[in-house]
Amino acid sequence: MSSVFSLSLDTPAYKGTVSCKTDLYINGQWMKPAEGGAIDVVNPATGKLITSVSAGTSKDVDIAVEAAQKAYQTSWGLKVPGTVRAELLYKLVALFEDNAEEFAALEALNCGKPYEFAKQFDNGLCLSSLKYYAGWADKIHGETIETDDSKLVYTRREPYGVVGAITPWNAPLSLFILKIAPALATGNTIVIKPSEITPLTALRFADLIAQAGFPPGVVNIVNGYGNTVGEAIAHHPEIRKVSFTGSILTGRKIQEASAKTNLKAVNLELGGKSPSIIFDDADLGQTVKWASAGIFINMGQICTAGSRIFVQEGIYDAFLKAFIAASQAFEAQTGDPFSGNTMHGPQVSQTQFDRVMSYIDSGKSDGATVQTGGERHGTEGYFIKPTIFTECKPEMKIVQEEIFGPVATVIKFKTEEEVIKMANNTTYGLACGVFTENGSRALRVAHALEAGTAWVNCYNAFDIKVPFGGYKMSGVGREFGKEGLEMYTQVKAVHINIGMKI
Ligand code: NAD
Repeated sequence: MSSVFSLSLDTPAYKGTVSCKTDLYINGQWMKPAEGGAIDVVNPATGKLITSVSAGTSKDVDIAVEAAQKAYQTSWGLKVPGTVRAELLYKLVALFEDNAEEFAALEALNCGKPYEFAKQFDNGLCLSSLKYYAGWADKIHGETIETDDSKLVYTRREPYGVVGAITPWNAPLSLFILKIAPALATGNTIVIKPSEITPLTALRFADLIAQAGFPPGVVNIVNGYGNTVGEAIAHHPEIRKVSFTGSILTGRKIQEASAKTNLKAVNLELGGKSPSIIFDDADLGQTVKWASAGIFINMGQICTAGSRIFVQEGIYDAFLKAFIAASQAFEAQTGDPFSGNTMHGPQVSQTQFDRVMSYIDSGKSDGATVQTGGERHGTEGYFIKPTIFTECKPEMKIVQEEIFGPVATVIKFKTEEEVIKMANNTTYGLACGVFTENGSRALRVAHALEAGTAWVNCYNAFDIKVPFGGYKMSGVGREFGKEGLEMYTQVKAVHINIGMKI
């Protein structure tokens, strides 16, 4: 019998029970870890314990990989037609829709996301990913390639077999689904480790996988720490591909592990220090809204956070005044993730709180000016006020490094040429925003910026149909869209002799 977490909530935003099993989900069953061990899961709004979940080790990863391999060989992979894989994924869509509010509540409880935000944004991405990749499952095909009359050549898009996946804590369920949906649609089986900080929604989702009727071993969830379960996935010789979302530091270790073991295919979705560039002719009202949502939503804990805001000198004063007001509006709606109108919750953990506060301290001691925020909110939980720094120099840590918190640096510029140079002066290259009413300039700048995504007159406007990923050290490969599907396939070329003689 698996241990179960269950809690009844009676809040302005959500009334009902949230629950999940807390062990490891391997081979269609709930299992205790081979070597014991547990991880405390904390509510970041209060700092208090929610529950604890089982912590696996490399032994559990071995068991999960064996189950995934068996499932791949006997009851999944290309043995199962795409239409059947699609049907099962569509069942997950329906089951998720039936339980969407509970998932939003569990996410809010574990991550501190405002409940309404989790319902709209996180659930929105979960659903669109499930539907989109369900739709692809019976439309995966290779192509025939003209060579000459004596030969027929075609390609097949085959699954890898067992893939591994490792996810972070900032959007736990949507990033979990962004791994499993394309992996399953293409016929792979998967061993996945959610973040040890936010495992609850993934564990709840395991119930839906079982209910939908996926064969045992197709999806295996191994909770645990990065340096145990994560490393075991990255090093496992039978895992043919690993898909990772998280920090550059860990991404590097994943690639090193691949190089040292079986050269498994690796895709990495990593961090960012993305620029928003605001030209004099931008629509001020709209730009302030997009730019402030760009940095402050999800408490700044979003890989694409528009944390370097470059503002042309003619609009600088007007923008800064309105941006401070927008930031203070977020601050005024700081509080309990379950109160009806909260827009700004806590950082996810004590560690992240300390990390963000140390960046704020470094900005202050390096001589940048705090225009608003710059301190904790309240006395309980991990709340930090939305913070705006001005008088920022390019070499400051707050300008160079990913803070992953609600901290914006505002920098004045004069010319287009100058701002392109400043914006590209980073090792990151995940996203950028360009705000101007001049269409030619918008396209010129969007093309000149070194980033995998460029938003023009909007920000964080994701769409599951559109590929997403990083330039430079922000990543390798693409998720979302057709590219995100193809990442889970390998191409086989078949050459057939229809007339060649030797
Ligand atoms: P992290 O790298 O610390 O952890 C991510 C995952 O990796 C966790 O599950 C963790 O347990 C695991 N891990 C840690 N050490 C490991 C190791 N040695 N081997 C294998 N796995 C290990 O990152 P985080 O703090 O959870 O997440 C924040 C980072 O994620 C930020 O840099 C953010 O920008 C990035 N992120 C990127 C995207 C994207 O799509 N590009 C999306 C969300 C978050």
